[in-house]
Amino acid sequence: MPFPPNTTPVPPPVFLPAMSPADPTPTPLPGSTKEKDAQGSGSGAASSATDPSASSIEGFAQPRLRLHLNELTDNGTSIFLSSISSSTLLPSAVSRVQKALYVDPTRGYHMPSTRSVTLIVRPMDGVAYTTGIDLDPEQHKEIHLSSRYVASISPDRRGHEIEGVIVHELVHCYQYNGHGYAPGGLIEGVADWVRLGADLAPPHWRKGEEVNGKWDAGYQHTAYFLQYLEERFGDGTVRRLNEGLRTSKYEEKSFWTGILGRPVEQLWEDYKKASE
Ligand SMILES: [Zn+2]
Repeated sequence: MPFPPNTTPVPPPVFLPAMSPADPTPTPLPGSTKEKDAQGSGSGAASSATDPSASSIEGFAQPRLRLHLNELTDNGTSIFLSSISSSTLLPSAVSRVQKALYVDPTRGYHMPSTRSVTLIVRPMDGVAYTTGIDLDPEQHKEIHLSSRYVASISPDRRGHEIEGVIVHELVHCYQYNGHGYAPGGLIEGVADWVRLGADLAPPHWRKGEEVNGKWDAGYQHTAYFLQYLEERFGDGTVRRLNEGLRTSKYEEKSFWTGILGRPVEQLWEDYKKASE
């Protein structure tokens, strides 16, 4: 599936300073960015993969979590309400994302100070997207989830799919983007790498399909490449990449060579050989 051109988190020409002088941490996705996602569903049995161990992580601020249902009588809204328990799923998904991107026994990472995440379920085209609210887009995020999409998921995998989409979108509330210059495919790949690691991959994802494309094709294609890098260079490789996207403006050659010692093209060729 090609990466649609309007899905890239558009880099802002100027990196905005942090809103609060007490917080020197560069912010993740720019608030003006509307990042749409087109993960499709598939069919097949799967149960909710909520991990009870992924409860609130000590020392990490938990955002205020809100739920808005724009059309209560909408069929997809009813299905959403009966498929997942949002009051437990959302905090657990936040912890999972924080753990995947920031918990490392050997070093400390700076997590963005996301203060609130509002999940908005409403009839719209597409699957879901994440954005920041106008007044304070860096600290207050909105995840829009299509109730039409929810209604289209096969009944046996609704909970699993909704949770997978929410985990993916929550990554966008917490990841860094190389000061707005990282390729959209890498941003989407990190989001689906977390989803993959949470055992929430939809059944249509196939490892190995991506080797004929580019490393930054995005979504699961880049996610499997990141999974390979994590296996090759050790646990925490994606966390190091995310940290690199926090500290500097993304420049392809210096980014990959600086963190993994090789240009990404070479890593991609190695991955393709390893996948043969
Ligand atoms: Zn996304």
